[in-house]
Amino acid sequence: MSKSKDKKINKIKNRKIWPFVVSIVVSILIFAVIGVGLLEASFSNLVMSKIQALNQAIQEVDESYHECMQNGEDFQSIARNIYKFTPDVQSICVVDEKGQVVQQYGEFEPDFETLQEQVGVIDLSENGDGQGDQLWLDPMEMGLMERTSLVDDGEVYGAYCWYVRPLSESANLCIRVMIVVYQYELASIVMMVLLFFAIMVLVIGWNIFMIVRAVRQRCREKDILYTSTVTGGNNIQYFKDQAEKLLKENHRNRFNYAMISVRLEKYHNFCSCYGIKEGEELMENLFQELQRHLQNKEVAAHAAKADFALMLKYGEADNLRYRLERMVSDLKEAHPTQKLNFGVGIYWIPQKHEDVGTMYNYVEVVQETIPEDLEDHICCFEESMLDKQRWIRKVEDDMESALANREFQVYLQPKYSTREEKLSGAEALVRWIHPTEGFIPPNKFIPIFEQNGFILQLDDYMITEIARLRAKWLYEGKKIVPISVNVSRAHFTKVDLAEHICKLVDQYNVPHDMIELELTESAFFDDKDILINTVKRLKSYGFDISMDDFGAGYSSLNSLRELPLDVLKLDAEFFRGEDEEGRGDLIVGEAITLAKKLDMRIVAEGIETRKQVDALAEKNCDLIQGYYFAKPMPVEEFEKLAFPQEAK
Ligand code: C2E
Ligand code: CA
Ligand code: CA
Repeated sequence: MSKSKDKKINKIKNRKIWPFVVSIVVSILIFAVIGVGLLEASFSNLVMSKIQALNQAIQEVDESYHECMQNGEDFQSIARNIYKFTPDVQSICVVDEKGQVVQQYGEFEPDFETLQEQVGVIDLSENGDGQGDQLWLDPMEMGLMERTSLVDDGEVYGAYCWYVRPLSESANLCIRVMIVVYQYELASIVMMVLLFFAIMVLVIGWNIFMIVRAVRQRCREKDILYTSTVTGGNNIQYFKDQAEKLLKENHRNRFNYAMISVRLEKYHNFCSCYGIKEGEELMENLFQELQRHLQNKEVAAHAAKADFALMLKYGEADNLRYRLERMVSDLKEAHPTQKLNFGVGIYWIPQKHEDVGTMYNYVEVVQETIPEDLEDHICCFEESMLDKQRWIRKVEDDMESALANREFQVYLQPKYSTREEKLSGAEALVRWIHPTEGFIPPNKFIPIFEQNGFILQLDDYMITEIARLRAKWLYEGKKIVPISVNVSRAHFTKVDLAEHICKLVDQYNVPHDMIELELTESAFFDDKDILINTVKRLKSYGFDISMDDFGAGYSSLNSLRELPLDVLKLDAEFFRGEDEEGRGDLIVGEAITLAKKLDMRIVAEGIETRKQVDALAEKNCDLIQGYYFAKPMPVEEFEKLAFPQEAK
């Protein structure tokens, strides 16, 4: 997975909700602290302003009391007067040094002892300065119960306090005043607090909205992230995350797990015949079928194209194989009118395992080793498969530069006439001289090139090289034998193949009859019309055509009937192993007779012994190619062999 894709996926997966929740909690706390503080501060401000006003009033009461006393007025009339003009005053008392109330106006009388307790020692004797002590009981300090117990209708807060003022050494004037906060006075504070809470509700509401949005978005994104656009079910991302989770949890359960890949063969072919929509429907059905086979703590997903990924539990390996066989047979029912083939790759997950992506890659590697056109296969992963894949990677990485750097070299394997045992032809065979790998034989890269199509370029290169060589020999006036070049079956999808080969050869003005083209038998199974047409045209341009590897694989005698071939190359397999009953010998003899009757020359390949040469001579075989006479060799060596006089 690319880094940026990884980053995006992780971002979606790790999108967190908790910052919003924290933000809500923090907002509530901040608002609560500030709100309560604000309320408290505003309220105490209001009360303090009232206290100040009362202070003022008390001062006035105090002064007027003294004035009236001096004027000889009696206590009751003084007190009545004060009471009348100062509504906050509830009681006015004169208390002697023992705390006994001597005079009283109003219903409340001070408990002097308690007053002393609350404000500390009231040492009245030292306060003869006429200023009076501010013996306020701080209203804010008083308990709420006390306060509310004083509250009447329309009042939200009430508190009283005693003002104590020494009159003489033996008498104190005590005035009880009341502080009341009314509802209307609180209106502005309440408005402010309401506004404040409205803002708080807005902020919290916004946060809640963000949480809901984030949760929904996360669900939506996860849905997209984990859904296959083909089957509508789980995709590979889901598979990886879920499998990783199951394996992590498995420390407790200790199940054996296997990573599985199920591939529908020739899916492209299915889509070409029935359309992509039908193809996707098939994939959807297959996925549902796979899901039906899942047990608890197993996972399946559509991985890519025609591949499904599964992680299954197992007890015995054989049981899992049996389960997979049943699974595949059910999958085949998904499209009863079409024959479906499946490849199954298994990787037995060890206790100490790699990450899911790597392990899934292993089963994909297994898939690469299952031949496409074979019946259903269940194959297990082997380390050597990775080496094979690495080799394919290396070959594919290096092939272009190898062609440009002329690392592919032409080797020639001589063909000898059976009777005279004289060099009468040669086959061009490629070798790769790799700068680091050294000499690489064709079986290590030709099958890869046939798979990836690079064989077209390589064959063109070989044909060109042979044409160039022939031109050189012609120019040098050398006696020339025909040289055959292999033409891979991959070319036979091109309608203008014959013209294409002509163009390559004509660059060097070489007569076409000096070049023979070897077609492998498998080419004869591809598009027959193109093949017949191409062979006929190549012949009309003067090339000789030979059927390579005749007798290997599925031979078709019919192709001998339909195609105007010049040469038949008997496959080396005819001459391998024991032939006690002489059946192989008989077939070779009959094949030679048949070829002769069809006016074809016959070449026996892979001849290694004198005995084989003699037997072939007896059967009238025309040419022999094999290690008995010569192995494939570099051009310079071949030149020494083919043109001995000139070489001297
Ligand atoms: P092929 O076309 O059947 O070539 C004959 C192969 O048999 C050659 O293997 C040759 O070295 C080998 N051979 C010849 N005589 C004997 C013998 O007496 N005993 C044994 N054991 N082997 C013998 P080579 O060169 O490794 O090529 C293998 C195959 O690679 C070729 O089989 C051909 O199919 C393919 N190939 C090689 N060069 C080219 C090329 O330029 N183009 C294409 N398309 N295929 C090529
Ligand atoms: Ca050949
Ligand atoms: Ca051959």
